[in-house]
Amino acid sequence: MLKIESRLAQIGSIEEPVTGAVSFPVYQATAFRHPKLGQSTGFDYARTKSPTRKVLEDAIAQLESGDAGFACSSGMAALQTVFAYFSQGDHLIVSLDLYGGTYRLLEKIMSRFGVTATYVDTNDLDGLESACQPNTKGLIIETPTNPLMMITDLELVCTWARKKGIVSIVDNTLLTPYLQRPIELGADIVVHSATKYLGGHNDVLAGLIVTKGKELSEQMAFLHNSIGAVLGPQDSWLLMRGMKTLALRMERHEQNATAIANFLLEHPLISDVYYPALESHPGYAIQNKQSSGNTGIFSFKVKDARLIEPILRHIQLIAFAESLGGVESLMTYPAVQTHADIPLEIRQQIGVDDRLLRFSVGIEHQDDLIADLANALSQAQAELEGESL
Ligand SMILES: *Cc1c(COP(=O)(O)O)cnc(C)c1O
Repeated sequence: MLKIESRLAQIGSIEEPVTGAVSFPVYQATAFRHPKLGQSTGFDYARTKSPTRKVLEDAIAQLESGDAGFACSSGMAALQTVFAYFSQGDHLIVSLDLYGGTYRLLEKIMSRFGVTATYVDTNDLDGLESACQPNTKGLIIETPTNPLMMITDLELVCTWARKKGIVSIVDNTLLTPYLQRPIELGADIVVHSATKYLGGHNDVLAGLIVTKGKELSEQMAFLHNSIGAVLGPQDSWLLMRGMKTLALRMERHEQNATAIANFLLEHPLISDVYYPALESHPGYAIQNKQSSGNTGIFSFKVKDARLIEPILRHIQLIAFAESLGGVESLMTYPAVQTHADIPLEIRQQIGVDDRLLRFSVGIEHQDDLIADLANALSQAQAELEGESL
């Protein structure tokens, strides 16, 4: 098989037999003519199957070493479609440090349909064991978690789940199949907010699902078509266009993030840096074992919460904005933005407090990013000192 860099660059490039177009076309059609009664071209109605989307779906299934891929209108749409696999009375075990939107979907919506969830550190087998109930049907893992970058040993935990007959679902948004392939480590389902690194340009909202095995793949195809939160042809094309450069982007994201994390580690105003590429990170060894590199986001804590507001005001190249994974650098304040829906007690338990910032490092030159950050930090410090005079 070709190496992943080649497969990424060539997504859709040899699939258009009529003209040989190297960029697979956007098939802006919802209905497809049947050759005759009882016959189909393979496409009938675009919610079920659509040509441009299919190229994307086949590509992500292959990149993640799964059997089937499904493109959805957002990461949340992908998660909702996956959660619809479960039924009233089912129980899920879920990563404690979880994407806020996933928490909201489980607690505010799925709970109304009788699907309950327990939040644990998914890297702790004893904790998993004690969270397990007779009706536990699913395990939902983020690794690294966002924003605290906690690492779960996927092989260990997915093997545990398999023995118990629990379906393991990994949100692979932060690493992408270029760096980590959970299905190869034993996961049953992978989900992505493709809005992030896969799209990579902060310009397309999309979600992806990959399933392993016939039963799950058929069920997911049924749910995907029945729920209908599918990705349109234009956005499918735009996502593939972004994915072609994934390998290059991820490498630059990691280089930049590592340089900036090291800069912050030494900075007198910073108390903590959470990045699994740092040897001091508790998940460093597992991360190295199960992935071929690191994501481009990390979090850090300033020593004094009063620095946050001026830092966010003084960054210029780095945008103060939600989201992550694009070529442009973005900084977020999780406690009031992405994680606002998570109750204060849980946020405090995991350490998402008012001193934490999350940095999605883009592909700009690292010197410019460090200069921007250094300037914002010193201006913030000057303001704080002015205040206390
Ligand atoms: C952004 C994100 C989601 C939600 O995806 P959308 O595309 O915004 O709907 C889910 N999981 C993780 C880890 C994310 O970062």
